Amino acid sequence: MDFTFTEEQEMFRKAAREFAEVKLTPWVAEMEASGKVCDAVVKALAEAEMMAVTIPEEYGGLGLGYMARMIALEEISRISVATAMMLQVFALGIEPIVKFGNDAQKSKYLPGMATGERLSTTAVTEPTGGSDPTGGRTTYRKDGDHYIINGRKCFITNAHIADTLTILAKDEADPKAFTTFLIEKDMPGFKATHEENKIGMRGCNTGELSFEDLRVSKGQIVGAEGKGLRVAMAAIGDVGRGGMVGCAIGLQAACLEASLKFAKERILYGKPISQLQSIQNKLAEMKIDLDAGRLLAYRAAFLQDKGQNASNEFAVAKYFTTEAAQKAAKMAVDIHGGYGCMVEYPVTRYLRDAFVLGPSAGTSDIMKIIVARWVLS
Ligand SMILES: Cc1cc2nc3c(=O)[nH]c(=O)nc-3n(C[C@H](O)[C@H](O)[C@H](O)COP(=O)(O)OP(=O)(O)OC[C@H]3O[C@@H](n4cnc5c(N)ncnc54)[C@H](O)[C@@H]3O)c2cc1C
Repeated sequence: MDFTFTEEQEMFRKAAREFAEVKLTPWVAEMEASGKVCDAVVKALAEAEMMAVTIPEEYGGLGLGYMARMIALEEISRISVATAMMLQVFALGIEPIVKFGNDAQKSKYLPGMATGERLSTTAVTEPTGGSDPTGGRTTYRKDGDHYIINGRKCFITNAHIADTLTILAKDEADPKAFTTFLIEKDMPGFKATHEENKIGMRGCNTGELSFEDLRVSKGQIVGAEGKGLRVAMAAIGDVGRGGMVGCAIGLQAACLEASLKFAKERILYGKPISQLQSIQNKLAEMKIDLDAGRLLAYRAAFLQDKGQNASNEFAVAKYFTTEAAQKAAKMAVDIHGGYGCMVEYPVTRYLRDAFVLGPSAGTSDIMKIIVARWVLS
């Protein structure tokens, strides 16, 4: 395996870092205070063509692939985990169309998604439990050439800003058959309802969706009828989990950088605390976890770019990096002493953001189940 990034990838990282530092930093405080998506941030992401990264060039995308996406998410998350989360879920909405959509769906949806005029998401989770998507109660029934959908989704990223949503529903007549549908926000019977108030990732929207006798045509099915679990899980397994990994390693890097800065500046006993062994141990652990997390992330993205299934590798990476980000955020707060409890220090935000990384796209318990299945197979 070659661990060297291409010249194009190095340039992309440089551009993504500069974009995040210059265009996102000014909005972080406002997003934290309001707990809302900032329109200027969505506009900046669109202008920087961040939504276009995984979309094929023939549909107006950049076609740069999944390693480039990982790099972009890492750099954006280093400045704003909330923004990286929002961006990662746009791609989660894009993926089912790229991988399973027909030509008409690709031509209709992807160009607008690439420019950022059409925002997207994928909605699987329901109040009956996200870890078991088969327990969902959103159903569809056939009505001639149409389908009538009824139900509810919860904890959906971009719920209130998405124009196009891929949703999973089960056949009323056969609870084992699931189908994924493309929904547009102005379809009668569709509503984004409750908006969550989260402890972290506050600049990213999370909320509930309701479907009341929502009537859609056959042309809105993504993939084959009755095979929707495969479509939804393929998107969540590689793109959703890969996205969370990008968010997590960016946050790990931010924790290490803030800790290094503070440890070099804070003087105790007449010298910087960076000279204390217990502080050095924490910095070393953060660096070891960051390097390990990056390697796991890049291994999975490398396989994904080769067109291989990387769901197991992403489960390993998702478990490791989100747990490591939580550990790094706690160590960063600890290194800051009393200052680590004061909101003007970014480490307080990192700690809150780190805990939101856990459940999104599957909890650590679920990642361990996937990994155990892998080693036992
Ligand atoms: C910020 C945020 C954004 C999200 N965005 C989206 C989105 O865009 N689209 C979407 O569809 N979903 C989204 N989700 C939902 C997310 O995927 C679910 O929260 C997650 O899958 C867990 O489901 P749950 O919250 O219902 O917890 P539950 O499934 O109820 O789990 C509760 C507890 O039981 C444990 N558990 C469950 N099953 C097992 C098992 N078999 N063995 C051992 N322990 C188990 C879990 O680990 C957890 O500790 C988002 C969640 C968050 C927090």
